[in-house]
Amino acid sequence: MSSILEQDEDGNYVHQELAEAFLAFANSDVGIEFLSKFAEGGQTIGDHTFEEDGEFHSQGIDLAFNATNENYSKGEGSEERGDRGANARTKLSPSPYQFERNGKGTINVNVNKVLNVNNEYAKAYKNDPDNPMAKTLFILSRTLSIFHETIIHADGLAGDLADNCTLDCSNINKNLNTYNDGVQQHIQAKQEGSLFLTKVVPVMRQLYNAVGIKRTNAQIKKQATNFNN
Ligand SMILES: [Zn+2]
Repeated sequence: MSSILEQDEDGNYVHQELAEAFLAFANSDVGIEFLSKFAEGGQTIGDHTFEEDGEFHSQGIDLAFNATNENYSKGEGSEERGDRGANARTKLSPSPYQFERNGKGTINVNVNKVLNVNNEYAKAYKNDPDNPMAKTLFILSRTLSIFHETIIHADGLAGDLADNCTLDCSNINKNLNTYNDGVQQHIQAKQEGSLFLTKVVPVMRQLYNAVGIKRTNAQIKKQATNFNN
């Protein structure tokens, strides 16, 4: 399912920090609830085994978590990448047009395996790789990015495709004044009572508390909704 959990011959995770970030997400209540919609009956992800086929799985909508280089290229046509990039991105394969025509495909959550210096935690870890707290903060930053991509974007895209096979924001409140899926999903996530604010924020606070970092729900909310649009 996921290159993010790829292991070497000795059973060590190839992308150790991203694997830890993913497992913190996958073992949380809200992560399990989300993954249950995509899982196949009998499938084990993290510590949880799913009993039944999820609604999106039954519709042919798959989900993959990939460890990829999401840093921006150095210029048009350049293969080289700079040191800045997205923390994570959600992409459909095949293309949105083909996905709509086929009614099935894969929602890819690509998590940046490179330490992108425009992320303060990735930058701090890059500068101080032997500091365990820098590593922990980087991992938690990626966990939050995985929550962002799954609970905001992947769930939004799957729900949008599932109801009428069309990416027309049909699963979202229509009074948002934009037809861009990603922007609508962001606006919805910031609204009072959203799954993101009510479920993800407290989980992130618990994850920070568990490593001895005191943050309030309000502080986490500020960090978690620090996205454009
Ligand atoms: Zn987003």
